[in-house]
Amino acid sequence: MFAMRRALLRDIATTVLGGLPMTLTAREPNPAPATDACLCAGEVLGHYGFPDGHPLGADRQSAFLKEAELQGLLARVAACAPRPATNAEIGRFHTQRHIERVMHAERDKLKFLDNGDTPVFPGIFEASANVVGAALDGLARVMRGESARSFQPIGGLHHAGRNHSAGFCVFNDLGVVIETLRQRYGIRRIAYVDIDVHHGDGIFYAYETDPDLIFTDIHEDGRYLYPGTGSEEETGKDAAKGSKLNIPLKPGSGDREFLEAWPRVEQHLVRFEPEFIVFQCGADGLQGDPLAHLKYSAATHAHAAKRLVDIAGRFSKGRLKAFGGGGYDQNNLAKAWSAVLREFVAQKTSILKT
Ligand SMILES: [Zn+2]
Repeated sequence: MFAMRRALLRDIATTVLGGLPMTLTAREPNPAPATDACLCAGEVLGHYGFPDGHPLGADRQSAFLKEAELQGLLARVAACAPRPATNAEIGRFHTQRHIERVMHAERDKLKFLDNGDTPVFPGIFEASANVVGAALDGLARVMRGESARSFQPIGGLHHAGRNHSAGFCVFNDLGVVIETLRQRYGIRRIAYVDIDVHHGDGIFYAYETDPDLIFTDIHEDGRYLYPGTGSEEETGKDAAKGSKLNIPLKPGSGDREFLEAWPRVEQHLVRFEPEFIVFQCGADGLQGDPLAHLKYSAATHAHAAKRLVDIAGRFSKGRLKAFGGGGYDQNNLAKAWSAVLREFVAQKTSILKT
């Protein structure tokens, strides 16, 4: 087990971080494995990105890993390597029609998968399937009780719907995780917490009538930003009315406005006592992001992560799975995601095996 972990960390170090002066390989074999948190990363995930100066470039994972290494975090996580998800796994959330369109996008010489937001890039199917596969293996680790929490920087693709890509998101790994929790692990009441600057419309509308998907989302007001949805009035439909909480913030809002809104998220989660928490911690709400207009610092992400660790410990047997989501300034995403991972490794959890 230790050897496998070292090998995986070495893989991250050599294939993703390239020529950085690394301490990962020099550190073996002394420290006890810190299995409270695992990190789902690897070279193929770094390939998920769009060419030609697109804001979601292919080098975001390495920017995060460099910062996480500088902060000494990589030595404190179990490593979880990616692998491609099967069509059947992706099909737990997506239609086969959508999967096949992505699979054949290069052969069919498509330029975009949707209305122009999500360009086709070389290896798009493989990279996208690996985002989902990594998410499922990270989930399996958590469900086996090997780690209480997992973090996957390249993932959290919350705009993709069951039958379409959208907003840089090819396959919705979050949706596949939710469906897998239900179909494979028998977990029904799942909380979804989204602090990405954009509304998580791909999850919201897929579960709008589902009373057991407990949805909370703080984002920039849709009147000013893509995708234009997520008003306070959108609380779920039919039997699900009241199970969804959308909190739009005005452009220019920062840590103060986030912290004022956050207790509503906690009250919502406590009210429904989720059995598992999925956390989309997009870094595009930080000040200076080129696509949005909020002014968070990484303290926002640290606060949300710390509180969710606590709430997961109270209601969800500690089970918390986080994804990096958006973030188009590399310094910002490195700081925000490292703040989340730091909270994940800082707290010890007694993991209850199921
Ligand atoms: Zn976003």
